[in-house]
Amino acid sequence: SVTQVCGFDFFYLVLQWPGSFCDAEQKCCYPNSGKPAAEFLIHGLWPNNNDGSYPSNCDPDNSFASSQISDLMSNMEANWPSLACPSSNGYSFWAHEWSKHGTCADSIFNEHDYFEAALNLKDKVDILQILSSSGIEPNDNSYSLSSIEEAIQTGFGFTSVIDCNKDVSGSIQLYQVQLCVDKTGTSFIACPDSSSGSGRCSSEVKFPSF
Ligand code: 5GP
Ligand code: 5GP
Ligand code: 5GP
Repeated sequence: SVTQVCGFDFFYLVLQWPGSFCDAEQKCCYPNSGKPAAEFLIHGLWPNNNDGSYPSNCDPDNSFASSQISDLMSNMEANWPSLACPSSNGYSFWAHEWSKHGTCADSIFNEHDYFEAALNLKDKVDILQILSSSGIEPNDNSYSLSSIEEAIQTGFGFTSVIDCNKDVSGSIQLYQVQLCVDKTGTSFIACPDSSSGSGRCSSEVKFPSF
């Protein structure tokens, strides 16, 4: 029998489109470091199970310490900014992500290596470029969900999970692209068949500018 080392099967690297966070009813606030680049930015690296369930808040004693990631700070500010209000340096967002999700992978990653793994993964894929290559641009037009899924399958090589939210007038829009990563946190994989998702999307979704 195989020892269950970690209580999860794979990770989602969750990338958010800032235009869709910011044009939602709650609006957004740019971080202290200024307006982020117009690209898909990191929301989190989430341990997940093949059946769709996921662990959370696994180790309350292992709280976030910004001192552990001081060498990653400029990379974090550029690629993992918090767009929530009020404007911040991102520490509270990162602390939330570490406590809720990261501590569920702390058998394989300490805090530093968890954040570094997410940054390294994000660095390997340019979703905006992949979509653009298929003529899908953040220009406030609507695109079919299937065309977005197919563009990512073609340009990235694996299936993904698309998540949507609503803009202030209620239009459903492309909010997050969830890429699946093996449980070592280093290699992209196809998402498990059971991956729920796209549930909040409609067959046509807006891709807002940022
Ligand atoms: P929402 O309700 O906005 O979809 O999700 C709220 C929070 O629940 C997310 O920020 C995330 O922390 C967690 N969450 C939602 N769906 C998933 C999922 O499929 N896997 C994991 N690991 N966490 C999720
Ligand atoms: P989740 O629980 O879904 O993993 O993380 C979402 C939490 O992080 C929410 O409480 C949200 O207010 C906070 N947060 C802070 N900055 C951001 C951001 O830029 N994007 C998202 N999606 N959530 C953020
Ligand atoms: P949480 O409780 O996780 O902070 O946030 C709950 C929901 O509200 C999540 O879907 C999160 O993305 C959204 N949210 C939280 N703060 C903000 C914000 O400042 N602006 C926007 N647009 N959404 C937010």
